[in-house]
Amino acid sequence: MDTLRLAAGGPETVRIASAILQNGGLVALPTETVYGLGGNGLDPAAVRKIFEAKGRPQDNPLILHVASASELDGLCHSISVAARELARRFWPGPLTMVLPCRESIPRETTAGLDTVAVRCPACDVTREIIRAAGVPVAAPSANRSGKPSTTTAAHVLHDMDGRINAVVDGGPCRVGVESTIVDLSGGVPRLLRPGGVTPEQLREVLGELEIDQAVTAQPAGDAVVRAPGMKYKHYAPQGQVLIVAGPAEKAAAYVRKRFQPGDAVLCFAEELSLYGGLAPTAYGSERDPESLAHGLFAALRALDRAEVKTIYARCPECGGVGYAVRNRLGKAAGFQIVTEDAL
Ligand code: AMP
Ligand code: MG
Repeated sequence: MDTLRLAAGGPETVRIASAILQNGGLVALPTETVYGLGGNGLDPAAVRKIFEAKGRPQDNPLILHVASASELDGLCHSISVAARELARRFWPGPLTMVLPCRESIPRETTAGLDTVAVRCPACDVTREIIRAAGVPVAAPSANRSGKPSTTTAAHVLHDMDGRINAVVDGGPCRVGVESTIVDLSGGVPRLLRPGGVTPEQLREVLGELEIDQAVTAQPAGDAVVRAPGMKYKHYAPQGQVLIVAGPAEKAAAYVRKRFQPGDAVLCFAEELSLYGGLAPTAYGSERDPESLAHGLFAALRALDRAEVKTIYARCPECGGVGYAVRNRLGKAAGFQIVTEDAL
């Protein structure tokens, strides 16, 4: 199939994209987090096409994207006061809530769970398209399964050209990492994936927030996890990512001793000079975690080449969105970290 390129501001974009969604097709949509691979979330055939286009395991549920919080009641039940308050504060924005789902949601979308993940993205054209389509749009990140997420339309086409009906080009994504996911389906609220809305911000509303262990460590192969997506390899280029922690100079000395031709360095802008001669890639400034989130996936994609065997990566220690960056790099590395005492 030919993949249409639609400009976000184009006069026909909303009409064409929403018609494709209504007819069971797939459109990659810009959001403030990463590009989403959208299909009608109430149409099992459309949802199956999403899994096929991505090569995604079927037991990994999708996030439903809505145009406004008023759509929540049609998709979920037992919505707590706290969940409504989170929607009021953070939507449209990079927060996904997992809630008990209504029976009208196909099991293809929920991967058979009795919960559904819902979010309202902060991207005007995408909300207009969802509103015009008149259905919630199931949209995982628009990358081939296991690869770093896409943050530009060019990245989407690299992975999906010929596999989807259209991509809407809304420019580079502002946040750059996927949404925060919080499970509000019962018991103590639980963070399943960190993102642009930080644990600090969630605690302000929720008081208590548990952090799921999949956020900070690789689950064992046979572990039973709440969200099936957590058990798969994620965000990974072809080479092995190895996080090197500790002070800048010591880490650079460690890397310099081991660096082989074909290896790569992913570091902070302020550390570039420490890796002279090793052609380091900077993905942002250590002092500005937002810049690191914004640049991470583009940098991992640039290093996703067969000849790159080991990627030595520097990882921020800070909170805020730095916590989400640490989680994504940790997953890309299979949580392989050289700690300071090993330097
Ligand atoms: P992606 O589709 O790549 O943006 O990732 C979607 C994430 O949402 C995956 O990690 C899923 O496991 C998670 N997710 C979706 N629905 C649910 C749900 N009902 N419960 C828990 N996690 C979910
Ligand atoms: Mg993804």
